[in-house]
Amino acid sequence: MRIAVLGAGYAGLTLARKLERTVPDDVEILVVERTGQHLVQHELHRAIRRPSLADEIVVDLETVLDRAELRQAEVADVDPDAGVVSLASGGTIDYDYGAVCLGAETAFYDLPGVEEHATPLKTLGHAERIRADFLDALDADGGGNSESDGTSRVVVGGAGLSGVQVAGELAAFAREEDARENVTITLLEQLDSVAPSFPENFQTAVRDQLEARDVEIRTGTAVASADADSIELGSDGRLDYDQFVWTGGIRGPAALDGERPEVKNTLRLGDGTFVVGDAARVVDADGEPVPASAQAAVREARAVAENVANLVAYDREGDDIFEPRLEPFAFDSPGWLVSVGDGAVAQIGPTVLTGTAAKALKATVGAGYLSSVGAIRNAADLVSEELGYER
Ligand SMILES: Cc1cc2nc3c(=O)[nH]c(=O)nc-3n(C[C@H](O)[C@H](O)[C@H](O)COP(=O)(O)OP(=O)(O)OC[C@H]3O[C@@H](n4cnc5c(N)ncnc54)[C@H](O)[C@@H]3O)c2cc1C
Repeated sequence: MRIAVLGAGYAGLTLARKLERTVPDDVEILVVERTGQHLVQHELHRAIRRPSLADEIVVDLETVLDRAELRQAEVADVDPDAGVVSLASGGTIDYDYGAVCLGAETAFYDLPGVEEHATPLKTLGHAERIRADFLDALDADGGGNSESDGTSRVVVGGAGLSGVQVAGELAAFAREEDARENVTITLLEQLDSVAPSFPENFQTAVRDQLEARDVEIRTGTAVASADADSIELGSDGRLDYDQFVWTGGIRGPAALDGERPEVKNTLRLGDGTFVVGDAARVVDADGEPVPASAQAAVREARAVAENVANLVAYDREGDDIFEPRLEPFAFDSPGWLVSVGDGAVAQIGPTVLTGTAAKALKATVGAGYLSSVGAIRNAADLVSEELGYER
């Protein structure tokens, strides 16, 4: 019997490691991941300012998988009913149970010029590009064309978790370079608030932290198109820019034709196939849509691992006529946590923390996650890197 885990981000790695401990040793667990590595994506914005952080946030999968087999390959297509994966290199993989954990890609919504002129943030390569372009923009002699006083404007499009954290990081980066006066950082959001899918007390605290760092926030402002120098904002006119970062949304992985299939609380996509994490639009047991996030991906993966282990046990030993009832997934978030430059905002129920307490919590949660997937050295290094930031 074979279980295929497709993708080894938060969902895939958590799932594979849990299955290693819960299904019998003679059940094959095959992890298919195109990079051969696990990227701690929720810290990716940090690598813009601290390229050395790449060592902490990239984990070699061979070091954290125990008995699961790793296949470094690109998934081209999945047939969830037949239980067959097609690889981009040719060839197929059959599975008895499979989990599509391929994450999401950046959505540009066919907005003219946006994909061509803006940089997304999904990989370390993107972080490097954003860093290089930002350093150019800070150097008023080399960039600085967009404002009449010779300063630069850097626009971040989309104020979800990634956009908020990128804007905060860029503001801190400019300050560190003694060039905060050289640049205006503008965060655009088409909805009425920053972090629009999150609780109101969190939104307010995040906005305060961004404003305290002189990030210009323009909510209710949608990007319509872009060219090499300016962004068309529909009825709000045009905005000249020197650098444009796009964090405006996500779409499904190419292997699912760019779709994020909606699944109910068992996360079942086909007979033996589940879809977990950002690749899915999950509606949980309370009928609530689950926000695409690392913390949801990890929780979903734990729930699916339990259900797959029960199905495997039933297939192998069950003399019951009926398949075991799958446990429905209920998303119960303890709260939300983001960094804003060298600060952080933590929301735990009605309580919102900022300052040192939130920052310490952020470092601890990041390290706790890395430890939970077996990356102990990365965890320790992340804590010192995060808490060593204070200047
Ligand atoms: C800058 C930034 C900051 C963020 N901050 C937060 C935060 O503070 N809190 C939070 O909860 N969330 C945050 N997020 C969101 C979070 O990172 C995602 O929700 C999370 O990564 C989703 O996990 P996943 O396992 O579904 O997908 P991913 O982590 O994206 O993993 C998908 C995996 O599949 C692999 N893969 C993809 N396609 C293929 C293919 N065709 N073949 C083989 N392998 C493939 C990828 O290489 C990757 O390893 C942030 C995201 C960004 C970009």
